[in-house]
Amino acid sequence: MGLIMKRIFEVAPWNVVTHKLDKENKRLQESLTSLGNGYMGMRGNFEEDYSGDSLPGSYLAGVWYPDKTRVGWWKNGYPEYFGKVINAVNFIKMNFLINGSKLDLYTDKISDFTLDLDMKNALLKRSFIVEKDGVKVKFNFERFLSVAQKELSVQKVSFENLSDDSVEVKVISSLDANVKNEDANYDEHFWEVLEITDNSIIAKTKPNDFGTPRFTSGMQVGYVTGLKEVDQTVDKLETSKTFVADLKAHEVGTIEKRVAVVTSRDYETIDDLRDAMEGIAAKVSGVSYEDLLNAHENVWDNRWSQSDIKIDGDTDAQQGMRFNLFGLFTTYSGEDSRLNIGPKGFTGEKYGGATYWDTEAFCIPVYLGVSQPEVSRNLLMYRYNQLKGAYINAERQGLKGALYPMVTFNGIECHNEWEITFEEIHRNGDIAFAIYNYTRYTGDKSFVLHEGSKMLTEMSRFWADRVHYSKRNEQYMIHGVTGPDEYENNVDNNWYTNFLARWTLKYTLQILGEVSKDQFEKLNVSKEEMDHWQDIVDKMYLPYDEDLGIFVQHDGFLDKDIQPVSSIPKDQLPINQHWSWDKILRSPYIKQGDVLQGIWDFIDDFSEREKKRNFDFYEPLTVHESSLSPAIHSVLAADLHYDQKAVALYERTARLDLDNYNNDTADGLHITSMTGGWLAMVQGFAGMRVHDDGTLSYKPFLPKKWNSYSFRQVFRGRVIEVAVKENGSEFKLVSGDPLQIQVNDKPLMLK
Ligand code: BGC
Repeated sequence: MGLIMKRIFEVAPWNVVTHKLDKENKRLQESLTSLGNGYMGMRGNFEEDYSGDSLPGSYLAGVWYPDKTRVGWWKNGYPEYFGKVINAVNFIKMNFLINGSKLDLYTDKISDFTLDLDMKNALLKRSFIVEKDGVKVKFNFERFLSVAQKELSVQKVSFENLSDDSVEVKVISSLDANVKNEDANYDEHFWEVLEITDNSIIAKTKPNDFGTPRFTSGMQVGYVTGLKEVDQTVDKLETSKTFVADLKAHEVGTIEKRVAVVTSRDYETIDDLRDAMEGIAAKVSGVSYEDLLNAHENVWDNRWSQSDIKIDGDTDAQQGMRFNLFGLFTTYSGEDSRLNIGPKGFTGEKYGGATYWDTEAFCIPVYLGVSQPEVSRNLLMYRYNQLKGAYINAERQGLKGALYPMVTFNGIECHNEWEITFEEIHRNGDIAFAIYNYTRYTGDKSFVLHEGSKMLTEMSRFWADRVHYSKRNEQYMIHGVTGPDEYENNVDNNWYTNFLARWTLKYTLQILGEVSKDQFEKLNVSKEEMDHWQDIVDKMYLPYDEDLGIFVQHDGFLDKDIQPVSSIPKDQLPINQHWSWDKILRSPYIKQGDVLQGIWDFIDDFSEREKKRNFDFYEPLTVHESSLSPAIHSVLAADLHYDQKAVALYERTARLDLDNYNNDTADGLHITSMTGGWLAMVQGFAGMRVHDDGTLSYKPFLPKKWNSYSFRQVFRGRVIEVAVKENGSEFKLVSGDPLQIQVNDKPLMLK
């Protein structure tokens, strides 16, 4: 595939570990050692200041700021702001002075360096020996964000004097509100400190001109240490305490830092916030580090035992898969319907931690298989609760109904590139599809018949207004769109968009036939409206080429100079980092699945011949420069028995960040595409499908390189274990009622 990879961590089944402080790739190291507990998260930046290049970042879920839009030329209709999850008050900060000289790994002489992300226990460890002014000290760091107590961050640092003389180590530990987002449009600080004491900070996001809510976060720190506290300073933005250890030869000093982190999302008044953080700090002050860690590890243990995927015979693939699941679990746990899954989770600033179509198109299919239905339902409820914003988006485009945003925190579009904001409207079909997908997978119709029917009706109203009727062709068309392939803008009749628009109208009509009388009345849809929708369904134009037997990505696509990706010189990949934008737009290269995205969505509805012809035509033109791309192509390749291709694309998706295939992981991890490993394995290699009648089926194959693989899947109140081995596959009902499934088109009763 002409891929260039950069692997800076060792391959190990449960750990992401290195023995090299990679100053050249510090940001990449930080991204790959991020932690999170669904409530908050952070990059793997060091506790202490580092004078080399670095992107420090800690983030609190759902705490964001509307950063005023900055564009070259203003176009009417642009969103006024771009929403960003902001860098939180730095609560892990700790600096160290060794005999008065500040520790800085960028300039200091160090040896025996280890940086180790333990994915099994969600624990980040770092150790090294530093030699400074004739003395040697060995440092050990550990930190975790508790999943047993989500508002708690725990750190432990110990240092051993390896010299023969005594050494003074000072620890200056802080809460620091002097933080920025590197990508802030106007280089602004987003926090105002309301209250600062010797052990706490309460800060509020600055006022904004856009009427979006302000957030307050409160942090309170407590220490467990035998070191002597010698100083404290409380400045405007930072509160610090200094501890000192006079270490004799081979003596060890230890300090633990526990920070309670609370926000106004959960506590209304400042008093409530203060009480909450004091309560948490008091509760954990008497608990040992080991007990805090044990409680955290138990939750992780439980998670892994429900959803771990084992691959025997390929440690690269195994590590990739666990890294994917780890990324998902650290980002979103599904209890809070106000939260969603940002494309970079808590691992970077880019994409602002906002909600994209990624959730419905790529995440829900996986959460359906690895968690209880409530998790996916919460994600759908998130959209239902944001319907008001979707009306505003449609109205701003002069259209009826609801247009869900491409990027948002509150339902209102906040992306500021016109081709995405105004044109990438396929999202209104992807969200409809997610409602259908949830219903089909879980068998639970209660969402679609209530909230879902409302969303579908309003989205259909948008589509019915957005299409136009071409009298010349006597067909409905959709002009001026961008499909999932963002390497084409302002195209007419993107097959994927037209197909989804038509499907949404069709599905809405079907659901309107199933809702209660009462609900139907509430939806207030007239007979004329429904007839019009049916007319669009009947007469929607879907570009097709008879000679090639393929759906055409959009009008004019086939007139391009069609050359496969393999003809691009390797040193020009990825093209988005080497070619001018206009060259990309003129080229036939596809960023991510477009026609093939649609075929993947409705994989059961296309014939073998249709799938094959389209795959054979489009995949060779696809550069997969969106991290979301390889997985769905892997599933299609597996479906077509292109085994080698399926495995190659699996590797690309599962190790996308670990091997930095797209050369952009330094900015943060591709969290929403971490669903790719699961999709490629479960839908691809195991051929798992759920059919409209609720049947669950599999057609497993074992990639040649592997000895076996196994996974557990949640399905309609059951947990099923699937193990695929050289001598066949085994299906086991771990819990729940008996179920008849289909394996290679034959019935199998699970009891
Ligand atoms: C992709 C989009 C995606 C976004 C966030 C872009 O590169 O093309 O499809 O929504 O990243 O993941």
